[in-house]
Amino acid sequence: MITCKKFMEELGAYLDDQTAPEVRLELEQHLAECPNCWVITDTTKKTIKVYKGMDPYPIPCDLHNKLLSALTRIGPRQTGLGPGGGNRPKS
Ligand SMILES: [Zn+2]
Repeated sequence: MITCKKFMEELGAYLDDQTAPEVRLELEQHLAECPNCWVITDTTKKTIKVYKGMDPYPIPCDLHNKLLSALTRIGPRQTGLGPGGGNRPKS
């Protein structure tokens, strides 16, 4: 008999078919007895399906460029404070 905590630890491997046959059997026994874990497993399975269904598309170029310009905008402002450090020479 395994606990819900143990079940959660093995869930990822179980969904990936990475568990040993005897562990898999224990997990399936737990699923049959524990509605909570059954719902979580079912939801996770569906989430993985949806996620994999959307996966073929890479990050849009537009978003990538926005991120990049945002980063370069922040960059020089931060490093610009470096030289001198506020110690401005007065004439
Ligand atoms: Zn459980």
